[in-house]
Amino acid sequence: MFGGGNPAAQLMFVGEAPGATEDREGVPFVGASGKLLDELLVGIGIDRSQVYIANVLKCRPPDNRDPRSDEIANCFEYLERQVEVIAPVVVVTLGNFATKLLRADDTGITEIHGQVEQCTVGARTLWLCPVFHPAAALYRRPNLELLRADFAKLPALIERGAPDQAPLSPSGEARREDEESAAMNATPVSPAPQGIDADGKPQLDLF
Ligand code: URA
Repeated sequence: MFGGGNPAAQLMFVGEAPGATEDREGVPFVGASGKLLDELLVGIGIDRSQVYIANVLKCRPPDNRDPRSDEIANCFEYLERQVEVIAPVVVVTLGNFATKLLRADDTGITEIHGQVEQCTVGARTLWLCPVFHPAAALYRRPNLELLRADFAKLPALIERGAPDQAPLSPSGEARREDEESAAMNATPVSPAPQGIDADGKPQLDLF
């Protein structure tokens, strides 16, 4: 399940990996987390048909385990190309895996959520807004208010338009030097509480 949505989207989401329902249907975020994502979008006046959604991993990890760093590295170039093709103004990273990968830094989502920064992914420079994964809000209700508050920042950010684009290198790349090594090392370090996914399976590293 590679992702899906509006190819002209100004707003792109990057989740963690497809769950069982997404795997079955070939559509991102169709389970309980997806319903909450739709609701959060409606709350800021945006319809799901306006956005594009991808994931760090393109396949569901067996038994809903966390993505491994070699899997993240394998899928990273595909994600970079997705960002380049969609060319969004804003990328919202949902949860720890997407946030750590695209920020090329190990700061966790609890600390960094809602802090918008300029970021270059592949050849595209954009506004990156890290937020809790919707599953984290389903698991722990107070996170829902934080998620709503972070979503409320998105319309103004989209309105602002994309940042100036980084100049391409002679090879046609605008990639940050540390990005590839970040993909290789993108394993969260802190032990994390468990949540329960839409299929009742434990889901790790939500916070
Ligand atoms: N959770 C994710 O991170 N991605 C999906 O596509 C569905 C659930």
